[in-house]
Amino acid sequence: MKMPHSPHQPETARRGSPRRRHRLRTIRGCVTLSLLVWGLSVPAESFSVSHPNGIEVRTTPGPVSNGHTVLLEINTRNMITPIVGIQAWHGEKAIPVYQHPHKGPGIFIGFIGISYYQKPERANVKLEWTNRSGYHFLLIPIEVTQGRFKKEKLRVPKSKVSPSKTDRRRITDERYKIKNIYKTPHHSRLWNTAFAMPATGKVTSPFGSQRVLNGKLKSYHSGVDFRASTGTPIYAANDGVVRFASNLFYSGNHLIIDHGLGLFTGYSHLSEFRVEPGQMVHKGQEIGLAGSTGRSNGPHLHWGAKVNGISVDPLQLKELIEAVFSPAETDRITESE
Ligand SMILES: [Zn+2]
Repeated sequence: MKMPHSPHQPETARRGSPRRRHRLRTIRGCVTLSLLVWGLSVPAESFSVSHPNGIEVRTTPGPVSNGHTVLLEINTRNMITPIVGIQAWHGEKAIPVYQHPHKGPGIFIGFIGISYYQKPERANVKLEWTNRSGYHFLLIPIEVTQGRFKKEKLRVPKSKVSPSKTDRRRITDERYKIKNIYKTPHHSRLWNTAFAMPATGKVTSPFGSQRVLNGKLKSYHSGVDFRASTGTPIYAANDGVVRFASNLFYSGNHLIIDHGLGLFTGYSHLSEFRVEPGQMVHKGQEIGLAGSTGRSNGPHLHWGAKVNGISVDPLQLKELIEAVFSPAETDRITESE
C-alpha cells in the first residue's frame, strides 16, 4: 500500500572514509551488543543513511554500476516505537522488504535491481514506515556509475537476427508470458542460504557485453554464459519453485526458478528439462541439461537473474547474497547454550 507523503523529511547521510567509518564503529560498539553486531559488519563499499526515528539503512555496494543489484539493509532495532508497516519504493516500483535471513528481529533486507539502461546519476529509493507516531519516510540516495562492458562479435543463423513476421508475433507473445511471471513472484522468501553456480564450466561471456550479431549491434548480454557441452548437468542456483520450462524463440529451452519476493534465475538453451513447472527445487538439484537450443552459436548455458523485474548480473547478485551469509557475520549472531 502506498502511503501519503509527509511534509517532514529529516535525514542524515554519510559516506565515510575508512577512518571515519572506523570511528563510527567504535562509538556504536560502546553502546549495546546489538549495535556492535550492526556496526562491525559495515563492508568497505557501503553507504549509510539514518533517520531521527532511529532507523538506519545501509546500501551495498556504495556506488553501483548499471546492471548490478543494491542490497538494502535496514536496522530498526534502535527505534523507540516499533514499526507497524515498512515498504520501499524505487520510482513507482514497490520493493519487497523482509526479515534478514539470519540476523534476527529488527533487521530487514531488500534488493534494488539497477537496469542496464539506467543513466549514471543519482537514483532515490524511498523507504516508508508507520509507527505509533504516524507516517515517516527516508530518501536513500543510490549513486549509479556507468559499467564498463566489452563488445562481442558473434555469428548466428540469419533467421534468429531478423525474424520473420510469424516469429516476431511469437516473440511478442513469449515476452508477454514471461513478463507476467516476473510480475507475480512467490509471496515469501524461498532461499535460506547463499546462491550457487548453476554449472561447473568456466564463464565464457560476462553480463552486459554489447552483442554485435552478424556485424550489427543488436543487444546487450542480459546474463552470463558458461562453457557447457550438450548433456552437461545444470543445477538450481538456490531453492525455489519452477515457474517456466518450455521453448522460447531466443532462449530455446528455457527454465525459470522463482526464489520468492522478486528474485528469479533463468537457464537458457537447454537440451532437456529435468523438472516441471510448479515443482519445488533445491539448491544444487539437477534441473536440466545444457544444449544449444534457441539463438545460440554453440552449446553453453546462459544464466540470467531478475530482481523485481530488472535483468541484473547474476554473478554480482550471487556475491552480494554471499555477503549476507558471510561466516564472519553469521558468527556474530550465533547463540550457544
Ligand atoms: Zn548468454
